Amino acid sequence: MKSDRRLVRKGSLEKLFEVLKGDNRQVYAPFSRNGRTSYRKIEKFSDIATDYIQTTQSSKEVSFPRTEKILDYSKNADGMSVKGIEPDQIPQIMLWGIRPCDAMGIGELSSIFNWDYKDEIYNNRLSKVTVLGFSCSKTDEYCFCTSVGGNPGNTEGSDILFTQLGGNGDYLAEILTEKGEKVIALSPELFEAAGDIEKEKFLADVPVKFSHKEIYGKLEKFFDSEEWVGQSLRCIGCGACAYVCPTCACFDIQDDSHGKLGSRVRCWDSCGFSLFTLHTSGHNPRNVQSARWRQRIMHKFSYMPERLSVYGCTGCGRCSRACPADMNILEHLTSIKEAAL
Ligand code: SF4
Ligand code: SF4
Repeated sequence: MKSDRRLVRKGSLEKLFEVLKGDNRQVYAPFSRNGRTSYRKIEKFSDIATDYIQTTQSSKEVSFPRTEKILDYSKNADGMSVKGIEPDQIPQIMLWGIRPCDAMGIGELSSIFNWDYKDEIYNNRLSKVTVLGFSCSKTDEYCFCTSVGGNPGNTEGSDILFTQLGGNGDYLAEILTEKGEKVIALSPELFEAAGDIEKEKFLADVPVKFSHKEIYGKLEKFFDSEEWVGQSLRCIGCGACAYVCPTCACFDIQDDSHGKLGSRVRCWDSCGFSLFTLHTSGHNPRNVQSARWRQRIMHKFSYMPERLSVYGCTGCGRCSRACPADMNILEHLTSIKEAAL
């Protein structure tokens, strides 16, 4: 669908927020506390954070919660009865203020959940999410979206993308999907004709450090490189990088049993954990941290493009900001690009 462009006055955003809340939706938006900004359910417009570069956690929790009940079961005289999650138990969510790198990550995450098996619970959740993206006017040394196919004003993954036209200015709204059009229909008077507005000059400048295609080509011959050991020596395998990442999709399944009743729960996991690949025999095919770090990079930059035709990294920089051991994915990808083979 061709995007429709409108002008939204700065003062109209609060009115739009109230209209959306009144439309029987939960609004999730960035909220700052103690120097950390995360998405959470917001009741008051004034609680929405605006002065931040990137949230600590990505917005993936909205469609892929960190713990999620997938069914209830009970044992009885005839055996077992099982009750799944009904789609109408999943709320309609408006995801407000998501950065273009996180919006791009929605497609990458979805490709994993729809590869060899279509994950209905994930797809049901995502079908109820409307994405209101906000372009980036600020960046830091960890951002590298332009090296992995994105940019600070990328429309991919958003239903509407807002770009602020100067520090305290109005917003250009690009309406990109039918979900976006439904938002406009709720309050069309807030969306004025836009005319000819160039958004580029209002966007952050994120230098290109490498091309993801270059990394892909290099990784084909890099599997047995000693570089992985050097890169991962200080990694403590805490999994923080996977938990904050908008495209990491590993999970495990646990049963929460209480006598004859129980629930089956899906919980985030990480390929950085030593237990992740431990077999019941005691054998672990990735028995050292360098093998686990290699898996993280290979999966995102080699296996995903090969199998799913997408990369598994949006250049949001969260893994580097969150790492307690100061591992920096941008530095490591640059050193792979420059390594002699
Ligand atoms: S956050 Fe850092 S230390 Fe923790 S697993 Fe990831 S790379 Fe290793
Ligand atoms: S690997 Fe790191 S930089 Fe890439 S999307 Fe995940 S958290 Fe962001």
